[in-house]
Amino acid sequence: MNKVILFNKRPVGKPTLDDFKFVEEEQPEVADGQVLLKTLYVSVDPYLRGRMTEAKSYIPPFELNKPLQSAVVAEVVESRLEGFKLGDFVTGNLDWKEFQVSNGSGLNKVDGDAASLSAYLGILGMTGLTAYFGLTEIAHPKSGETVVISGAAGAVGSVAGQIAKILGCRVIGLAGSEEKIHLLKSKFGFDEGINYKKTADMKHAIAEAAPNGVDIYFDNVGGAVSDAVLANINKFGRVPLCGSISNYNDTEVDLGPRIQSTLVKNSVLMQGFIVSNYSTKFKDGMAQLSKWLQEGKLEYAETVVDGFDQIPQAFIDLFEGKNNGKMVVKI
Ligand code: NDP
Repeated sequence: MNKVILFNKRPVGKPTLDDFKFVEEEQPEVADGQVLLKTLYVSVDPYLRGRMTEAKSYIPPFELNKPLQSAVVAEVVESRLEGFKLGDFVTGNLDWKEFQVSNGSGLNKVDGDAASLSAYLGILGMTGLTAYFGLTEIAHPKSGETVVISGAAGAVGSVAGQIAKILGCRVIGLAGSEEKIHLLKSKFGFDEGINYKKTADMKHAIAEAAPNGVDIYFDNVGGAVSDAVLANINKFGRVPLCGSISNYNDTEVDLGPRIQSTLVKNSVLMQGFIVSNYSTKFKDGMAQLSKWLQEGKLEYAETVVDGFDQIPQAFIDLFEGKNNGKMVVKI
């Protein structure tokens, strides 16, 4: 039998295990023009929380009683589709199933010898590209500038901070534990780290860490942390809005300070973005990230959770900050 995880109910507030349902189905049959895929690694990502609501967004909501989906690395275990052979590794936005058939649409082959397979869900996948394009296409970092990154020890943040370092910036990371602050400095080469969970006055702490002010704020979290950073933004500052995980489980609208006058007075550019805006440039972004990785200029961290049954819990744990770098589930 084939294990499947269905979307059981729409969460109210923080997701719980009840929102997911484990079922078993017959093993799928492969028809002409199809491949059979065995799931090897599953990506869990904060944006999936948005798909659990009915709100209109850039991607359709999950349907109740249907399998959840995310980026997956899979192995071709049977092929009746030209261009795919047994043993090929692929990525794609696939169902949370142990095995599934595909007609090849949306599948990309990946090279298991060039990098670890899980890296294609992180540094060489969607989150690496998000960091790369958010920073280079919106923030345009210049050498000597000060960059603040929130969610800094996570999948996107840890890469964004390192790219800013490669481009000659001074980088300050905000994260939620002492272990993460240590990781930022020792592994990822950040200049400073601030544990937002242990810092009473974030505005002051950021001012101390960034005596010349903040030129770029790469925002992964939104909320009060971001208010404190924006209070330190410099003239002509740039703020790529990547995510706002601090609000994803809110049941009421979180009203913060009104920021328009800060942005006007300082001529700040704030721009939301979705990584797929840059899909025509993904090949170039991948090439640059791979090159930096091979040259040893980029490091990455992963929290690898074991077992298909652990996918929902791994997803929930993102909201508790239990991951260092990219959270993936190994099947
Ligand atoms: P992460 O690997 O950063 O994991 C999530 C992290 O968020 C946790 O480890 C935790 O770290 C932090 N966090 C959780 N709750 C809160 C909170 N209430 N306040 C502050 N921090 C919190 O995830 P990703 O790197 O995959 O994603 C980071 C952000 O980027 C998310 O907002 C995501 O939605 C967004 N994103 C946007 C994309 C786009 O195209 N715009 C594409 C991909 C991601 P800590 O211990 O530090 O609290």
